[in-house]
Amino acid sequence: MTRLLIWGLLIYIGYRIISSLTRPKKSVTGQTRERGEATTTHRDPVCGVYVSEEDAVIGRLEGQRHFFCSHACLEKFREQLDHTSP
Ligand SMILES: [Zn+2]
Repeated sequence: MTRLLIWGLLIYIGYRIISSLTRPKKSVTGQTRERGEATTTHRDPVCGVYVSEEDAVIGRLEGQRHFFCSHACLEKFREQLDHTSP
């Protein structure tokens, strides 16, 4: 009698594990959050738009990597640096 209970428990645990493994699929279709947990997003310092790392225009300025939505924003940022730094 107890064996039957143990089997039922094992099947239940197995079912829970399988359902928890298959569940996280649905978040893929949603919008990319600002936090960017799946793909890393970066904030464009010029226009404030969030861009994903693969779409971003990456500029290396003053030893730091900056991410921009377009080359126009990168150029703007460079211009701003030229004005602020002597
Ligand atoms: Zn931009």
